Amino acid sequence: MAELIFQTKDVVKTYRTGGTEVRALDGVSLDLFAAELTVLLGPSGSGKSTLLNILGGLDHVTSGLVRFRNLDLSSLNDRALTRYRRDHVGFVFQFYNLVPSLTARENVQMVTDIAPDPMRPEEALELVGMGHRIDHFPAELSGGEQQRVAIARAIAKRPEVLLCDEPTGALDSKTGAHVLEAIREINDTLGATAVIITHNAAIRQMAHRVIRFQDGNISAVETNATRLSPAEIEW
Ligand code: ADP
Repeated sequence: MAELIFQTKDVVKTYRTGGTEVRALDGVSLDLFAAELTVLLGPSGSGKSTLLNILGGLDHVTSGLVRFRNLDLSSLNDRALTRYRRDHVGFVFQFYNLVPSLTARENVQMVTDIAPDPMRPEEALELVGMGHRIDHFPAELSGGEQQRVAIARAIAKRPEVLLCDEPTGALDSKTGAHVLEAIREINDTLGATAVIITHNAAIRQMAHRVIRFQDGNISAVETNATRLSPAEIEW
């Protein structure tokens, strides 16, 4: 039996802006397993980022249950959620959020300096194919290279979970394929549970499971018997 990492039950998230209420998540129940690579697909506004933020401890549910292993995330206060994020979660966002005045190595080091059992920054950069650019500043790197540095930064603390929100959203499809290759490599070699939000439906071929969202809930789940490597996918 695969080990259960995340379990959500009847998760509802509403946002109130002005006089209107938006139901971003409408009763989501979902299990995610250790070392699984899951892709979330669905139209803009269907609730994907809201779910990812809740799994990552960046946001609270309105009602329902969210568990990470035996930890009930829905009952944690902000301080405990911060500790949860620090100890267990790596994030990758669409815009790389690197510090421009620091080199690739120094950007990764910001995380490794405070993590209990980190990799060396060089090792993390090597894993994403950036070992030869460690002393470069972000402005000296292409968008795809900057995103790979951001992935190195996210994984250097050896997180059990890697959450990626549109990691290739700002990249052309060929560059995006390299970035996804790096994420898949991390998923394979470190066994990190990876969840990727994307508009690029071709990515679904490299996932263990594809979860489709519609109007704040899951509309379909597909399991891939065989996964393709990013190099085998026609982008
Ligand atoms: P997706 O990631 O699928 O594009 P989101 O999870 O970002 O969808 O958004 C789901 C719905 O919740 C949308 O209608 C969005 O406008 C709304 N929403 C998301 N975040 C907020 C927020 N901070 N305040 C108000 N509404 C929000």
